[in-house]
Amino acid sequence: MAHDHACTDPSHHVHDGDAFVAEVERACEARGLRLTPIRANALRLIADAGRPVKAYELLDQMKATQAGAAPPTVYRALDFLLEHGFIHRLASINAFVGCHHPGGEQHAVPFLICDRCQSATELEDERIVALLDEKARAIGFVPRAQTLEVHGVCAACAARPATG
Ligand SMILES: [Zn+2]
Ligand SMILES: [Zn+2]
Repeated sequence: MAHDHACTDPSHHVHDGDAFVAEVERACEARGLRLTPIRANALRLIADAGRPVKAYELLDQMKATQAGAAPPTVYRALDFLLEHGFIHRLASINAFVGCHHPGGEQHAVPFLICDRCQSATELEDERIVALLDEKARAIGFVPRAQTLEVHGVCAACAARPATG
């Protein structure tokens, strides 16, 4: 599915927990998926964080509010959310972040990760993903998944003098 805009505002959707969860609820309904309370809880915590969150942080927060939030349950909830493209996993910092357009399909997307404020921005440009795929296939490699994470300093942090 093509997205008609390149959304590079990290606060888009992700900071509005209610809108984010509502969008995922609609997507689940449309696709016949079940957003169980624990899945919804994990999603809400990730959305409210507004930045990438580590699995153990989620686990700690969920234990406080939900009985039976043991690691396997939480990991299964995260797997579900990942599998259906509602969240992304950032391999280089081992954290999870809400997708900017959770109503869309599961997708590979390059991420820009700020090393100062820890914000993560989806770089929505399908040409990048397509080009990598094409280059891999050109040498006989069959791509299965892409992880592309760029570390650096975001525009907001670059405009502020560094502290420390
Ligand atoms: Zn996404
Ligand atoms: Zn930053």
